[in-house]
Formats: sequence, structure tokens, C-alpha cells
Amino acid sequence: MKPVNHHWIARDIIGGNSALDLVNTVSGWGYDPEDWVPEVASFLVWARLSGVLNERERKQAARLAESSPAAAERALASVKELRFALWGLVTSLQQRKSAKASELSVINEWMRRLALSEQVALKCGRIEFVPNRDISALELIGLRVTAAAMALLKNPPAGQIKTCPGENCGWKFLDRSKNRSRRWCDMAVCGNVAKAREYRARKG
Ligand SMILES: [Zn+2]
Repeated sequence: MKPVNHHWIARDIIGGNSALDLVNTVSGWGYDPEDWVPEVASFLVWARLSGVLNERERKQAARLAESSPAAAERALASVKELRFALWGLVTSLQQRKSAKASELSVINEWMRRLALSEQVALKCGRIEFVPNRDISALELIGLRVTAAAMALLKNPPAGQIKTCPGENCGWKFLDRSKNRSRRWCDMAVCGNVAKAREYRARKG
């Protein structure tokens, strides 16, 4: 996969769920895929922008990555494994195919880690699940994506998870439009490119 140091902007976060946003850190799934988080630095920019980490946690993660680059690389590699597994599982769900055992085993492992990483607490009259003290900000990224994936996939919004048909895109998103008519990740990006291509084809 080609590493690309993408300049992340808020408009890139279109999945509607962190699990889909993680899948969307690859552009061109199924075509000529590019990895848009080739390094820990861009990974942390994505984690902040997508809301997976808050600013305090992003700073903690950046400090950790500075003091222990090897641990940060391992965390990134592990989240990328989760990314592939989620892409595979969501694609199988969309295509009504059976899931691959290797992908399920990666997600199961993350679910185990998630279960071991938090404890229940009662805060201001509400039950909350809070991370154990020994969980680092770097580990939080994959754990939060796993929690988001579980929330999404346990109650699959049938027909609502879509894949952008744009050339070299393949991003996934939750279609929350009223009549489920959303087609593109971003009309201004893939939609207009496709429209221009159709226009040229008609003219040509
Ligand atoms: Zn697209």
C-alpha cells in the first residue's frame, strides 16, 4: 500500500462512526490503495480530528510517542490490523457474505482488550465506563474505535452503511439522509469528479 502524507482536514471525516472513519484512513480500497496515516504523527492528527481523542489525550499520546517511538509504532501497526479487519467485516456485511475467520479473530482480540481496559463508575448519577489507569492515550485510539464498531455492528443499520463509488475512493459512511439517497463520501470531491466525467463522456 502506498504511504501518502495526507493533510487531514475536518471535511475528510465523513464516516458518521469512528470505525468507518478508521477504515477511511485508506483511500482507494479495492483499487490502488493509499495509506493516509503512514506515520504516528498523521495518525494522531486523524485521531484528534475524528474525535477519537480529545486534545488532552492527543497531547499525552504525542508525548508518549516522543519518549517511546517503538511503542507508538506498535500501537499504530495494531490499529492498522483492526482497520483491515473492520473493512473486511463491514464489506462482508454489506455484501451479505460470510466473514473471514482471520478478520473476526482480530476484532475478537480487540474486544477482549476493550473488556479488560475499562471499569464501571457512577458519575453524577450516571453509569459510565472509564478506562483503567494503566491504559495509555495511544492504546485508547484502537479501544475507542472498537467500542464504536461494536455499537455500529451490534445493531446493524441495514442498508445504511454505504461505500462511495468514486474513482479510487471506496470510503464507507453511514447514510443518515432522509430517503437514504446519499451516494458519495463528499459531493464536492467524488460526486463532482464523476459528474464531470459523465459530462465529458456525453460530449465526447
Ligand atoms: Zn468518495
